[in-house]
Amino acid sequence: MKRSHRYAVCLRGRFGMEMNMKIYADNAATTKMSKTAIDAMLPYLDGIYGNPSSLHSAGQQANEALSLARERIAACLGCDAGEIIFTSGGSEADNHAIRSAARIGEKQGKKHILSTAFEHHAVLHTLNRLKEEGFEITLLDVHENGMVSADQVREAIRPDTCLVTVMYANNEIGTIQPIEEIGAVCREKGVLFHTDAVQAAGHLHIDVRSQNIDMLSLSAHKFHGPKGIGALYARRGIRLTNLIEGGAQEKGRRAGTENIPAIMGMAAALEEACAGIDGNTEKVSALRDRLIAGLKKIPHGVLNGDEKHRLPGNVNFCFEGIEGESLLLLLDDKGICASSGSACTSGSLDPSHVLLAIGRPHEIAHGSLRLTISEETTEEEIDYMIQAVSEVVEYLRGMSPVWRDLVSGKNKFVTP
Ligand SMILES: *Cc1c(COP(=O)(O)O)cnc(C)c1O
Repeated sequence: MKRSHRYAVCLRGRFGMEMNMKIYADNAATTKMSKTAIDAMLPYLDGIYGNPSSLHSAGQQANEALSLARERIAACLGCDAGEIIFTSGGSEADNHAIRSAARIGEKQGKKHILSTAFEHHAVLHTLNRLKEEGFEITLLDVHENGMVSADQVREAIRPDTCLVTVMYANNEIGTIQPIEEIGAVCREKGVLFHTDAVQAAGHLHIDVRSQNIDMLSLSAHKFHGPKGIGALYARRGIRLTNLIEGGAQEKGRRAGTENIPAIMGMAAALEEACAGIDGNTEKVSALRDRLIAGLKKIPHGVLNGDEKHRLPGNVNFCFEGIEGESLLLLLDDKGICASSGSACTSGSLDPSHVLLAIGRPHEIAHGSLRLTISEETTEEEIDYMIQAVSEVVEYLRGMSPVWRDLVSGKNKFVTP
């Protein structure tokens, strides 16, 4: 067990369980499935179980459902059904898009890829692998407010750039990037543009055509659909390489029998989410702003990411003089499921690469808290979270030697 973890564990139980409060505020990690999504899956788990590649009627029934789901998903993104391929989730879609663009570039002698320092690991680790294979990777700096500009992309594109991949919205700090403008620069320069839209799909309006997007990744479990299913949009004419060899499913671009129940759940969840975007944005961002305003009252804390250009449900703070993991465990005791960054890096002692990318010093990057709310969150829950976080931060600071040195003036605060 990691040292900080052991330390945090012995703090647990300090506040006692508030039995009647159970708040899920980790919707960026995953979401609860909607009833609509579950209902859409049930017939395909129990009854309609044919293999869509089979020629008999049971297979054809499944195949018709598959075609319809593809059309419904395409309609939500503003593309054609033939431009959607199903994947096992967001990670696979990212891998597939980037690897495909790299192979296309390689054939033209272009082996430079442009991305940003705060991408999801599904993107960053794929790029690292390509670097080992001889590609040159440029990761753009992210401004302190968590934004990357189209001008930065324009300046960094080279004659040998084969791909620009910039995430639509960041999974830790929630900042929404100027995708349409970045896409326009890529079009002008003739470079393929991929965006990891896993945090955006179902939460923000997406129209791949008007936004100049060539490839886009999404994942169902981030918009109240099932886990283990996602999609990659690839504009017609972009030749995808195979990640998985085998049968001719997905027009030979992704072998393996399609996960029909999950695909049906994803289509239903995406349609429902997209139909609700305007109402949910208004409701959830009001709750988010209330939470941000409440947490801003805690001294020596700082909001991470631009306040305006951020996902409706995302709140992310650093609190000086405390350690994120202790904060999380004590909040869990109070019935609040939160995160200190991405689910992938929690459990490691390294501070988040996203917080480092926006220039947060190590001392405070360790004290980060991400609360990601949904349309099911209530005002009462928001107020409870403000109260709980304030109490826990104060409690942890009261026993922190780091905090004592800050208060005594031995060390300097980095936050105002
Ligand atoms: C969750 C997430 C992924 C990974 O999606 P999976 O379906 O879990 O593989 C990729 N990118 C971003 C931005 C994410 O939030």
